Amino acid sequence: MSKAPLIRWGARSAALRGPVVAGLDAGEHRNAIGVHAGAFSVYQALAVARGELSPQHRPDLTGTAPPAGFGPFPQWTDPSRIVTLDPWGHRVGQMFASERAAGMDIRPSIAITPGRLQMPEIDAALASGRLKADDKVLGRSGDIRVTKIAIEPVWWLPGVAGRLGLSEADLRQALFTVTDGMYPALLSMPARKVFLPPIGGTSVYLFGDPARLERPGGFTCRVHDECSGSDVFGSDLCTCRPYLAYGVEEALRMAQDGGLGAVVYNRKEGRALGEVVKLLVYNARGQAASGDTPGDYFTRTEAVAGVCDMRFQELSVDVLHWLGVTRIDRWVSMSNLKSAALTEAGIEIVEQLEIPPHLVPARADVEISAKCAAGYFARARAS
Ligand SMILES: [Zn+2]
Repeated sequence: MSKAPLIRWGARSAALRGPVVAGLDAGEHRNAIGVHAGAFSVYQALAVARGELSPQHRPDLTGTAPPAGFGPFPQWTDPSRIVTLDPWGHRVGQMFASERAAGMDIRPSIAITPGRLQMPEIDAALASGRLKADDKVLGRSGDIRVTKIAIEPVWWLPGVAGRLGLSEADLRQALFTVTDGMYPALLSMPARKVFLPPIGGTSVYLFGDPARLERPGGFTCRVHDECSGSDVFGSDLCTCRPYLAYGVEEALRMAQDGGLGAVVYNRKEGRALGEVVKLLVYNARGQAASGDTPGDYFTRTEAVAGVCDMRFQELSVDVLHWLGVTRIDRWVSMSNLKSAALTEAGIEIVEQLEIPPHLVPARADVEISAKCAAGYFARARAS
């Protein structure tokens, strides 16, 4: 008789759903493929190999519980709505305390904590009078009060396959083959339906009282895919950081108006093609005989990577389901791919906000024009 607890994905409570057991010391209780920490899981192997990390180490969860709130929402118990994260992942310390006490290596896959931000763009919005300090979500010195949420990927394989229009067998075979056989259990243990893939996770920054998730008096959202060159280093080739900052400004505005704002940040660098591909494409664009033109933007990407985009936006909606969102009043994005995924998922978009022209860096015009021409954006921009 197996000692691994059953996972009944989408069951109506955490207890009925059962814990995902995927810690390094999961042993005979293991019921999932892969381990926690996403892309960082590989570093654990180095630390264990060097004797710096004991594979028997169990996380001490004392004092790590999230602040009050955060569901459960009806979407948590709908097996078709959430397939790429564990909706109970922030509560395992409480929900599965007895199983943990009985020796199961059950770990959180979501963490939530209050925090503060400081962004020069928000300082500028304060100085110009576009935003006003309220000493609740936005202080006079520009300090922004937020709730930070970190989410690791936890995939329910039948659900991910269904979302992508694949059979579970085909999904498992591709995951196994394309990672050079990294997870043999994908093929050898079909009864294990949960996979913790070694990929980047998602951060959520919430603006306003999280208790308003229950009944938001208005919801503003930006779903942003990582672009470290722009987001962190201020590259002028694209609109990523300006859009991110604009999303924060609009999220703050909604929080000040009695609603809630959210910026979702997915680790999907370079449209999930990776940064090496992205920089190769930058060179290819710069060296094209015809110059860096909007017409070449996507063809050069496809020539290097084989495809233009591997983000699979239909998987990105899960985090909004997890937040209980059914309607976005102000949606800070012009991406057709993202808005189509939301609509397909049954999330209503009331108003779509385009980045104001004065926030677009001059050299980013090629990117904007290319995306408009490709029908990537909802509306053509004048500039
Ligand atoms: Zn960018």
